[in-house]
Amino acid sequence: MGCGVFGAVNFNEQPIFSYIYWGLRSQNHRGHQSHGFLTYDESKFSVHKSLDLVPKIESNITQEWLKRLPGNIGIGNVRYTTSGKCDSKSIIQGTQPVLVSIGGIELALSFNGNIVNTVQLSKEITQHFPNFTWTCDSDLIANKLLIELIRSKDLKTAVKSVITSLDGAFSAVGITGTGDFFAFKDPHGIKPLCGGHSPDGSTFAFSSETVGLDINGFVRDFELEPGEFVTVSKKGFNRQQLIQSPKKAFCAFEFTYFARPDSRFNGKYVYEVREAFGRNLVKEFPEVVKDADIILSVPETGDDPAMGVHEESGLRWERANRRHRYVTERAFILLNNERYSTIDRKVNILGSKVEGKRLIVTDDSIVRGDTTKIIIDKLRKYGAKKVHMFITFPRITGPCFYGIDMATYGQLIGARHNDEEIAKLIGADSVCYQSIENLVKSTGCPRDELCLACITGEYPTPLAQKTADEIKAKVFQGYTESTRIYETDNAPHASQPRVSN
Ligand code: SF4
Repeated sequence: MGCGVFGAVNFNEQPIFSYIYWGLRSQNHRGHQSHGFLTYDESKFSVHKSLDLVPKIESNITQEWLKRLPGNIGIGNVRYTTSGKCDSKSIIQGTQPVLVSIGGIELALSFNGNIVNTVQLSKEITQHFPNFTWTCDSDLIANKLLIELIRSKDLKTAVKSVITSLDGAFSAVGITGTGDFFAFKDPHGIKPLCGGHSPDGSTFAFSSETVGLDINGFVRDFELEPGEFVTVSKKGFNRQQLIQSPKKAFCAFEFTYFARPDSRFNGKYVYEVREAFGRNLVKEFPEVVKDADIILSVPETGDDPAMGVHEESGLRWERANRRHRYVTERAFILLNNERYSTIDRKVNILGSKVEGKRLIVTDDSIVRGDTTKIIIDKLRKYGAKKVHMFITFPRITGPCFYGIDMATYGQLIGARHNDEEIAKLIGADSVCYQSIENLVKSTGCPRDELCLACITGEYPTPLAQKTADEIKAKVFQGYTESTRIYETDNAPHASQPRVSN
């Protein structure tokens, strides 16, 4: 599932809730379908979960929330669904953090990512807990961790066992029933998770993105390494490399779409990387630049590359594509039935600025093509003469199994059509994708340390690769996927752990 994670502990016994609150508010772009807070105080967990964005809490009722969520340790989560059902009841049931317990052993967990070997895992958990049911991947991870904790009575051993038996992406923070605060990451490090501390050294936190630390005035200390397990004490972080990464594979899509531009990965602001993407596109498509009068950007992930296109080409960046400020949903992460009407309503065009003009329009990606088509139709309606799309993420040709909601070949316009066909289908004069080489170069990460699976077909985890290959072959023989691939019985399920210790 696409999620934002935040967790913190204060060693001066101060309430932690407000830190969790701000950590999640700053990361609401990572998931707006639901949110959850969980705190730990004197061996008791307190939980609040709800649908929708993190609520605006009036300052005069903050005290009430502090009473409702007492304690100096807490974790939270903002979520959008990439596994399980998408109706409101299921979404609230799947809201994190999850709290699991058996025989007096308790455990709370909040995670970002997606598990691929869900069927195998749920069968294994059912053998231990016959009444086990699950609504989201975090139920699976938390129960698997609980089983391992009961078995080994040692958190580090239990986490190691979990890390080696899951296939997928998982960056997790948790609290045990005895008040241990911890975090861990999958062996490929697909999703982000960083650690930081307050300037007075009293509070330590984990956050999906650095903006969660920034908003609390914390200093960023490190990005968790793939396969790393971290605990926190008064002395600070205790980092332990539980398994060596077989291959680092940080999600390249974080740079183009998912993360906030003011977050930092690999020592760079995402904004700087996106600007470089724009400059790259100008160099890659000089003939298209000659055929344009002005630049427009699709708000907001098209704005940063537009600056790069402007700087490199000298063309004017016209802010003629405006967002209705309080229509806040991210179109990509909406449920299907909400998508069309919201996209149409969220962007407004300044007609006189585009009439008779040849446009370059910057955007982060084309997934289904519906968003882009609606925007191009609108631009044409207002008299745009030409529309060239500059897309920073290369053509998406395969599904994501790791937490971005593009999980079937059928929904991906790029899986079935080439660039020219896509341009025709969405009504553009041309569709210009950034090359994979330039994308990689601008991130500053070595190519073999990025996940590029949805654009190259090379998946970092074995079960995902096997599933993708088998379903792709079927799809191109006419098979229609009815749901997300990894949730169907057509998906092959690994019977063995995929990473050796
Ligand atoms: S498959 Fe694509 S979206 Fe998914 S983790 Fe890899 S790069 Fe990111």
